[in-house]
Amino acid sequence: MAAARSARHSRPDHADELSAMTYPLIDAGRLWDRLMELAQIGALPHGGVDRQALTPGELDAWRLVIGWARAAGLEPSTDPVGNLFLTLPGADRSLPPVLAGSHLDTQPTGGKFDGAAGVLTALEAAVTLAASGLSRARDLTVVAWLNEEGSRFAPGMMGSEAFAGGRTLDAIRARTDPAGISVGTDLDRLHATFPDLPRRPLGFPLGAYVELHIEQGPILEAEGKVIGIVTGMQGKKTFQITITGAEGHAGTLAMAERHDALAAFSRMAVELYETVGGHDPVIKFTIGRLRVEPNAPSVIPGKVVFSIDLRHPENTVLDLLAERIRAICAAAAGPCEVVADLLADAPSNSFSPALMDRIGAAADRHGFPSMPILSFAGHDARHMEKLAPSAMIFIPCRDGVSHAESEWAEPAHVAAGAQALADVLAELLDAVPGIPFPEGGPR
Ligand SMILES: [Zn+2]
Repeated sequence: MAAARSARHSRPDHADELSAMTYPLIDAGRLWDRLMELAQIGALPHGGVDRQALTPGELDAWRLVIGWARAAGLEPSTDPVGNLFLTLPGADRSLPPVLAGSHLDTQPTGGKFDGAAGVLTALEAAVTLAASGLSRARDLTVVAWLNEEGSRFAPGMMGSEAFAGGRTLDAIRARTDPAGISVGTDLDRLHATFPDLPRRPLGFPLGAYVELHIEQGPILEAEGKVIGIVTGMQGKKTFQITITGAEGHAGTLAMAERHDALAAFSRMAVELYETVGGHDPVIKFTIGRLRVEPNAPSVIPGKVVFSIDLRHPENTVLDLLAERIRAICAAAAGPCEVVADLLADAPSNSFSPALMDRIGAAADRHGFPSMPILSFAGHDARHMEKLAPSAMIFIPCRDGVSHAESEWAEPAHVAAGAQALADVLAELLDAVPGIPFPEGGPR
């Protein structure tokens, strides 16, 4: 409750009355207690959580969250890929719902907040709006996406990507964990465990999507801000580069006659680090894997395979640098052959400016310091943004640490994020008279 009190404390004198009338206040204590109770499922000895996708722990998390939702009058449902929806019904059920949420799965040594904070703040907003008695035009649907983390089944963000049509259900069902258990087997078990949940189609129409998440970086904390208005997510390209030369005797073959794949790699690497890695201050360029064949001290390397992970917020820069990577590799190959395969191409995205304005206004309304911020990690919102105007709210996490047992968010920051989220959702649901929907948003 301290969080809510401090939030109110910093508002102007008339704000309590205004908020009570138009923007229902979330219950910070209830939200925190629920976060801590959820963190008991899969709890680790040093404060972390191991609750990977489709494990018994995640099913227990579903049970807990569905119970809270039902108690508040929300309607649980699922879909063929195992996303969980909890819907607060609006007056007109034919209008596309507003979605808000994140994920309930964690890394094997994850924390209490990554994903869980997004689902439970959205649930808190829905429960608060349900109790407010204000009329709402459309449904508000809290969502927990399947397998965001990708730790048990790769790749991550399966639920949101399948929902957005980026990956087929068959392809996802065929993925297996290290023990050989398929997503399909465990999805069937999930659906059998919750037989009374209605099954919704993948990709049903959305009005808008808003996701709260811990920042997983140090910027908000360093800047003394509580709300990060996420502008977008940086894009990423991954390459596999294969250099083919010729093996030879290290003692007999003259330098001029060699087709040394590692020598070619060395020339490429120097130029790549300088030209691509040094392009600008925000570029992220990594050669993280290198394989040399035959990797023997007295044999001239005949083959080198290496990886490139390239990230940048601007797609034009990403595209330009991808071309440069190909050109540098070709120019530095010398007597060797080189092939550059683009393995993954996820462009950077920008979130809805109108929704970003709403988040900023909500933060100002409650006196929460805010700033625009870029997401350096990927999130489910990347896929939702293809379907509807989307946005993300970041809250600080201690020392920027995430995917670790020591991951921590302050109760006051969780409460502030939940309140900003609740305000924005209330506006999107048409609960506040006289406030127009954001441009490009739901009609
Ligand atoms: Zn996450």
